[in-house]
Amino acid sequence: MKHGRRSFIKGVGAASLATTFPLAACTSPLAPAVIGNGKMKLSFRPYKLQLRHTFTVAGNSRNTTPVVLTEIDYEGYTGYGEASMPPYLGESQESVIKFLSKVDLEQFNDPFMLDDILEYVDSIDEENRAAKACVDIALHDLIGKLVDQPLYRLWGINPGNTPMTSFTIGIDTPEVVKMKTEEASRFKVLKVKLGGGNDKEMINTVRSVTDVPLYVDVNQGWKDKHEALEMVHWLNEQGIEFVEQPLPKSAVDDMAWLTAHSPLPIIADEAFQRLGDVASFKGVYSGINIKLMKSTGLREAYKMITVARALDMKVMIGCMTETSCAVSAASQLSPLVDWADLDGNLLISNDIYEGVQVVDGKVTLNDLPGIGIKKLSS
Ligand code: MG
Repeated sequence: MKHGRRSFIKGVGAASLATTFPLAACTSPLAPAVIGNGKMKLSFRPYKLQLRHTFTVAGNSRNTTPVVLTEIDYEGYTGYGEASMPPYLGESQESVIKFLSKVDLEQFNDPFMLDDILEYVDSIDEENRAAKACVDIALHDLIGKLVDQPLYRLWGINPGNTPMTSFTIGIDTPEVVKMKTEEASRFKVLKVKLGGGNDKEMINTVRSVTDVPLYVDVNQGWKDKHEALEMVHWLNEQGIEFVEQPLPKSAVDDMAWLTAHSPLPIIADEAFQRLGDVASFKGVYSGINIKLMKSTGLREAYKMITVARALDMKVMIGCMTETSCAVSAASQLSPLVDWADLDGNLLISNDIYEGVQVVDGKVTLNDLPGIGIKKLSS
């Protein structure tokens, strides 16, 4: 017999639910949440993340990242969300707040109607992907809290299969790169930013400290496909596992040529945004880097993974500089991917949440409901 989640939560107490409803993965009785008469209330505020180190990638350098923190209140429960706006994405605190001011969640009285709610949010404007993500994340956190389960459990994902996460080393002088690499000794894999004109020096400096596997992210910093291929061959000899966005996102033919000739997987990041992009990337890239701030959140990110797998493509999950809120949300999906780069919360000094942890280099999920975070301060 099929039960709608809404009616089954509404009508059944926690104790009887645990015995009558066959949720094999349940380890605790479901919260006796009441769905039906409440109104969802969205609130939001700007917040500035302070970076521990100046962060330099091909193209720019910065010490802070603007974010907007959201909360959706419903029937005494609060779901947390976050939008992060590194400058290259084209969103700002102002544009996110403008977008969120148009979002009317009070028209919905059942937070489990994710399709209806998120299709409505997506239809408000063409762009604003980070703004959409902060609503999606808060909504997912809320529904997990309403049934008192972590999202990975609701999705049937084994939390034991989380990957290692890389820690990112930005472009800098050999002295600073050496220091940052030494500081990152608890990570079992590093991601090195290239494309700043000192690529071999960057890799050689990191290699002078550690022999852990390395990922490379060029952030569109190489311009010539032949030089790119030569560098990819050299990187292959240095124990690099894949190369992210080596050429400009507009150079589609050159990228397809490079992917066809490359001994290493080539992963799309800046070129890749939404679900509709995935199929067109088959043959151009070996895989995709999914980030919640590009995908408009968790629901579309999950679909991207499904489509990429159907196309036999590699999947990476990454993040921006973010608090533990958005990073913990992305981590819920991490057991499904090949590679994770979920270090955004570790790059900042003023996180206001506690959530996913890195233990022995591995993304480690907790048992907290929803996206798995606790608020530390306001
Ligand atoms: Mg990247």
